[in-house]
Amino acid sequence: MKVGVLSLQGDFPEQARAIGRLVGESSVRLVRHRDELEEVDALLLPGGESTTIADLLELSGLAEPLEQRIRDGLPVLATCAGLILLARRVERSSSGLDPSPLGLLDLTVRRNDYGRQAESFEAPVKVVGLHRPFPGVFIRAPRLRSIGPGVEVFARWGKEPVGVRSGMLWGLTFHPELAEDPRLHALWLAEVARKSQSTTKKKASATRRKRHPKATASQ
Ligand code: GLN
Repeated sequence: MKVGVLSLQGDFPEQARAIGRLVGESSVRLVRHRDELEEVDALLLPGGESTTIADLLELSGLAEPLEQRIRDGLPVLATCAGLILLARRVERSSSGLDPSPLGLLDLTVRRNDYGRQAESFEAPVKVVGLHRPFPGVFIRAPRLRSIGPGVEVFARWGKEPVGVRSGMLWGLTFHPELAEDPRLHALWLAEVARKSQSTTKKKASATRRKRHPKATASQ
């Protein structure tokens, strides 16, 4: 399996390192062009500056193929600015400069809603599927202002939702790649592997049914 890291701006080197420790460096692809996007089986959207990343997606011609691949089921782990880009709606922030998101995850987010860089913080996050809290690193994090019915909250800091998922799209408002703790990346990878196995099985049994319609009809 090849895991891509969108590498237009932001902390993609840290994401590439964190995921590389789990899948092996040779299975990681930095994605800046369309052909690199086509090669990968899953993708990380890193933190950074969502306005800049959105502009660079347009300039590089990646915005449309990226949106299409995600609609076609590409598994994604998006952090912070990456999550802002996936959202359906970005509420006007105090800066007034906000990106137009891809609109793939039914969420409304507000940028920098916990304060500026100086008010960045670390806090324990409870994650479904992890026994011990995860050390959440929040850097000019967005706040999830509303969450659509098809989106599950699977990580919280206190009552605050900070991790959401819908099918194979996972989004975090914090930075697991800065935590020296591989558990969140590992959790996502396990889910990606499970989904791709079940898709392969479904495809194989559909092929068998086509070849032997009678044999499988009676099973
Ligand atoms: N505040 C940034 C934005 O709105 C996100 C910060 C981050 O990715 N750590 O794009």
